[in-house]
Amino acid sequence: MAIKSTPYWWEAAPLTVEDTVSLPAKTDVVIIGAGYTGLSAAITLARAGREVVVVDKLNPGEGASTRNGGITSGNLRLSHGQMAKRFGSYRADAIFAESISAREDLYKFIADEKIECDFKLAGRFSGALSVVQYDALSRDSEYLVKKFGIEAYPVPKSEMHNHIQTDLYKGGSVRMDVGGVHPGKLHSEIMRVARAAGVTIVSHTSVRTISDTGQDLSVTTDRGAVRAKNVISGTNGYSDSSDPWLQRRIVPIRSRIVVTEPLSGGLMDRLIPSKMMISDKRKLTYYYRPTPDGTRLLFGGRDGTFAGDPSWPTDHLRHEMAKIFPDLEGVGISHSWFGYVAMNRDMTPRIFEKGGVHYATGCCGSGVVWLRWAGIKVASKILGTESPSALDFAPPPSIPFFRGTAWFMPAVFAAMKMQDRMAARLY
Ligand SMILES: Cc1cc2nc3c(=O)[nH]c(=O)nc-3n(C[C@H](O)[C@H](O)[C@H](O)COP(=O)(O)OP(=O)(O)OC[C@H]3O[C@@H](n4cnc5c(N)ncnc54)[C@H](O)[C@@H]3O)c2cc1C
Repeated sequence: MAIKSTPYWWEAAPLTVEDTVSLPAKTDVVIIGAGYTGLSAAITLARAGREVVVVDKLNPGEGASTRNGGITSGNLRLSHGQMAKRFGSYRADAIFAESISAREDLYKFIADEKIECDFKLAGRFSGALSVVQYDALSRDSEYLVKKFGIEAYPVPKSEMHNHIQTDLYKGGSVRMDVGGVHPGKLHSEIMRVARAAGVTIVSHTSVRTISDTGQDLSVTTDRGAVRAKNVISGTNGYSDSSDPWLQRRIVPIRSRIVVTEPLSGGLMDRLIPSKMMISDKRKLTYYYRPTPDGTRLLFGGRDGTFAGDPSWPTDHLRHEMAKIFPDLEGVGISHSWFGYVAMNRDMTPRIFEKGGVHYATGCCGSGVVWLRWAGIKVASKILGTESPSALDFAPPPSIPFFRGTAWFMPAVFAAMKMQDRMAARLY
């Protein structure tokens, strides 16, 4: 059977096509991007009485918000030490603490708003490719327990098969505050809450320019202009040349997911008996999980292409999946799709402001928790209601000679691959 190039998630949560809503001439806040960031900012503002219009050039959610793995990871790419060196230990502490609050806030939202998104607090297993990595994971677990009281523990190789049936890893660790959602359902439920709060969502409308009129901001789109007191940009990996200043700071990278055909005979339960979300310590990491109905494996990683949709990234992921689970050699793939994540030079999500436009962006591959939170925080900043976020500081630096085409990424990927190979050879 042909492999579908659309997300598996769209089958149970089809995209809403919204191209008939027209743009008003004036509003309080225009938000660019109808993903988790834009909609979460919109809900916060609308509930505080602001008139809010969200515009998206695609269908709402057609960006990364309905294409992701649904793992509530809230990951930070930099270690605490690396972050302290770059931003100071006070900010590093605050960002790490915020990663816990952001995840808890998502779970509270799901409970309070009765969000039907197949959420399970299943826990996450991280695999180590070497004993050195296993030791580092053990130290991380200890830190999570001591500092934040999170249930977290190392898993020695001898006990690993209770969690995952592979011999590739030299052990790993578990943290129980990470879970899984159906990202498409999560997005459509956030849309439901946004609409109930009175938010106007206008899709198939591309923002072209934003200019300061002296009294307010004028947002020009391909379907007319709208004036607003405030503008929020929540475009993350789908940012385009309409904002060249942002484009020099955000590197869009393709991430790809493949989903197996349903696995019969209880195979899925044997592969991941703990039913956890999984990732590993590789720099070019793989992330994987059972689908919410427990019948298929969803396996994701870097796509490695920058144009077109060739078949080799699917073959590559299938090959890597079978290296972890030899039982999956030759198994059918039903879906394979990609979406864009956004990296920045600091490898840390960010909130910042420039020329009256507020930005929440730079998920660095982990935005289900982080960018929903950043959307809320940027809205609260406009309202002046909440304590500031530790993510809110100077914009990430621009990247020399970069104008949206990530010409340097093949070299970066090659270097990371080499580092992974060397790390796996360590004891
Ligand atoms: C394959 C994949 C797997 C992932 N897995 C995970 C995971 O398991 N866990 C996790 O935490 N994160 C994951 N992520 C990251 C996560 O999905 C994103 O960080 C998050 O969805 C970003 O939300 P957003 O609202 O900021 O951006 P998006 O959902 O990407 O939305 C941005 C929107 O901006 C719109 N836009 C852009 N420019 C314009 C313009 N000029 N005018 C109008 N509209 C515009 C786009 O059309 C788009 O809809 C994954 C991402 C991908 C692609």
